[in-house]
Amino acid sequence: MAGQVGDHSTDVLIIGGGVVGVCAAYYLLKQGRDVTLIEKGDICSGASYGNAGLIAVSHVVPLAEPGVFAQGLRWLMRPDSPFYIRPRLDRDFARWLWLFRRAATHQRVRAAMPAIRDLQFASLDLFPGIIDETQAECHFEQRGLLMAFTQPKKLAAAVEEARVTAEVGIEYEELDDDAIHAREPSLSSNVIGGVYHPQDAHIEPAAFVRAVGRHIRENGARVHEGVEALGLERSGRNVGVVTTTRGGFQAREVVLAGGAWSPGIAGPLGLRLPIQAAKGYSVTVRRPETSPSIPLLLPETRVAVTPMGDTLRFAGTLELAGMDLSVNMRRVQAIVDGVPPYLTDDATADMKLVEIWRGLRPCSPDGLPFIGRASGYDNLTVAAGHSTIGLALGPITGKLVSQFVAHEAPEIDLTLCDVGRYG
Ligand SMILES: Cc1cc2nc3c(=O)[nH]c(=O)nc-3n(C[C@H](O)[C@H](O)[C@H](O)COP(=O)(O)OP(=O)(O)OC[C@H]3O[C@@H](n4cnc5c(N)ncnc54)[C@H](O)[C@@H]3O)c2cc1C
Repeated sequence: MAGQVGDHSTDVLIIGGGVVGVCAAYYLLKQGRDVTLIEKGDICSGASYGNAGLIAVSHVVPLAEPGVFAQGLRWLMRPDSPFYIRPRLDRDFARWLWLFRRAATHQRVRAAMPAIRDLQFASLDLFPGIIDETQAECHFEQRGLLMAFTQPKKLAAAVEEARVTAEVGIEYEELDDDAIHAREPSLSSNVIGGVYHPQDAHIEPAAFVRAVGRHIRENGARVHEGVEALGLERSGRNVGVVTTTRGGFQAREVVLAGGAWSPGIAGPLGLRLPIQAAKGYSVTVRRPETSPSIPLLLPETRVAVTPMGDTLRFAGTLELAGMDLSVNMRRVQAIVDGVPPYLTDDATADMKLVEIWRGLRPCSPDGLPFIGRASGYDNLTVAAGHSTIGLALGPITGKLVSQFVAHEAPEIDLTLCDVGRYG
């Protein structure tokens, strides 16, 4: 019967097979640990699958920045808006919104920036080694990220933000009309300038995560797909049995890497993780011959455009609507419509649809992940809430998890990522 003690026993049990879960397994195996990973769907069936693929170290400003909440309220009634908050009566959601508003101050954002930067750069450094070892054919390239604008006011605001992030080491170049077209010839004449971040990289996310998934299997991890954690039981200061759809699992150490599902999984332990799902979409098309070769960010329409091998991906929208995974075609269309004004006719000609996808970003109120030991438990490590930058932070999160499990001091100061920071 499901839930019987000792059905399966293991050294380290990881719950969740997204980028965070597989990277945790990768580093734990390196430490010689015996690893079991359970995933309710297939490896990489959550947010890690169809995201924009940006390893954007320049993204050091968290989602909760001044003005974003008011913008969300202004867009509340627009069915095609890129940012949407669905009003609902839910205590956890109300608390999250309150915490999010509290985090959206200049002071808090400034404090978060160096912490996010340290995680971003440490993670970027780890990608090439993992890609080499797992032989991931994920089109990793470090060609930078180009933010393109058609409106002088929006461009000026982006330049101002780039000046602020430069204070913590984020490089940028301000590009005028000529310079931006020289840098990326597929941009249309509507574009008047932009900001280029040369340190950023990109990959095809699912190819990366699946390659790591294969590698951990080949290196001895037991990976159980189609196994859902149903309940975690407390046993003194430990997580005891993890009840699943395929029986009980007992582990010396448990790692929670369930993305947007993490609060539901941790709930029975009395652990209140303020993580809200923020739905986003991507549309992947066959790559036209003259399409952009550098990833683009179009802040005016809030769309990212990422070349991935022979495909091109458009991603966007942030919908705070709970765990709802339904597809709103008006928002999908708004993403598709948000691209052509920025590209030449050639660059958008004959784009054949490959896939429409949606996923749930696991958003914390302050944009920082929860990484570390859960207080009150001796054997539970949490790695969740990576918000809009989880792909980029996957490798370093996995490494930090392995350090916590080994009772080593984490190599990065994680004060701001403390699991218990909201009580
Ligand atoms: C449109 C969009 C664009 C994005 N673009 C970027 C980007 O360019 N760069 C970037 O860095 N980030 C980006 N992100 C964010 C990024 O995708 C996430 O932060 C990241 O994938 C989170 O990884 P994760 O492993 O924590 O969660 P997930 O990938 O969601 O993995 C969690 C896994 O846990 C499994 N699970 C859940 N409950 C259970 C259970 N009870 N039992 C067993 N398994 C369970 C799920 O099935 C899932 O596979 C984007 C997100 C979206 C939606």
